[in-house]
Amino acid sequence: MHNAAFRELGLDWRYVKLPVPPELFERTARALPGSGYRGANVTIPHKLAALALADSASAAARAVGAANTLSFENGVIDADNTDAGGFLAALGDSPSGRSALVLGAGGAARAVVWALVEAGAAEVSVWNRTPERAQELASAFGARAVARPEPAEIVVNATSVGLHEGALPLDELASPSVAVELVYGSETPFANWARDGGARVVDGLEVLVRQGALSFARWTGIEPPLDVMRRAARG
Ligand code: NAP
Repeated sequence: MHNAAFRELGLDWRYVKLPVPPELFERTARALPGSGYRGANVTIPHKLAALALADSASAAARAVGAANTLSFENGVIDADNTDAGGFLAALGDSPSGRSALVLGAGGAARAVVWALVEAGAAEVSVWNRTPERAQELASAFGARAVARPEPAEIVVNATSVGLHEGALPLDELASPSVAVELVYGSETPFANWARDGGARVVDGLEVLVRQGALSFARWTGIEPPLDVMRRAARG
């Protein structure tokens, strides 16, 4: 999707995949600016290391404790977490004053809970298969851990159920007005459950595109063509 956006804008830039073993991550990341790179997206298992090596970091990256975007400028490495802003952009309407339930307590849930609390959601609850992790995440950001999913206007699936086998305890849960599925694919069990209940469903590819668009704007200083990125991601 980044390369499609570069082509659309006539930019002579490339987005390339660099598989890096953890033991070489820091050395590789520090060598990138000198090799002409303006930035990098960073994924598992490097998100913590990316934040640790950066000279500066956004509020999102510091709060979430992980970075998915590095930007290189004037010898400085800056870390950001665009998963949080990308989630809010994909959500569309502001969550301010609205109740939200987040399913999951891993890295993605952390970014989502922080984003919802920061954006002024009225009440954010967190349910997770392993309750201790929900408790830890909720108390880090002033949210509330719940033993069973409770009704909310916005429900987010930040578990990996749908990507991997598993089931979420949704049978008793009233359908929200908006459901955000982080797992890629529009026919996941969570997305189908939400759609059957009449919810507006935002899928994982939209969230992916929106976090990518924020990284793109950060590196280039240009607002990316969202539809071009969407088409490329969905294609
Ligand atoms: P993670 O840190 O490994 O967390 C996985 C979460 O899923 C944990 O809360 C885990 O619960 C829960 N889980 C796993 N199997 C389960 C099951 N069978 N039943 C109930 N809960 C289960 O993963 P992550 O990085 O947060 O990513 C979560 C998902 O979001 C992945 O599918 C990832 O691809 C997706 N994602 C999408 C985007 C996007 O842009 N669309 C961005 C980031 C992540 P326990 O704590 O009990 O193990």
